Amino acid sequence: MLGKGSKLYSICKLKCPRCQEGNLFENNSLLSYSKMSKMLDHCPVCHQMYEPEPGYYYGAMFVSYGLTAGPTLAIVGLMMLFSEEITLWMFMAALILSLLLFMPALFKLSRAIWINIFISYNPLAAQDPQAKGH
Ligand SMILES: [Zn+2]
Repeated sequence: MLGKGSKLYSICKLKCPRCQEGNLFENNSLLSYSKMSKMLDHCPVCHQMYEPEPGYYYGAMFVSYGLTAGPTLAIVGLMMLFSEEITLWMFMAALILSLLLFMPALFKLSRAIWINIFISYNPLAAQDPQAKGH
């Protein structure tokens, strides 16, 4: 499932959706805050453009909202072990905590998911950057 050629591989490894060789980000670590939002312009291997048009990643925001729900619910779940009731403020704290803790991962994964929706793997792309297909 995590083999090369699947979208999950590209998303989890933050690789170019087309050749799955080049990195998507300057700093391709999910946990690092350093250069967190620095996405490369194009793939260093197959030259796929990563931002084909301005505003391309607005939609990725909605993906990241969805992703944020995971860690937020996990933190709320932890809180429920220690508290009888969860107030709105506790929920907000859980939300903010998960945003802060997982910001680099949420930002990068949501963009990786977004670009993978539109660009498909092309096994020839890494050998021949001119290969057609996207
Ligand atoms: Zn590539």
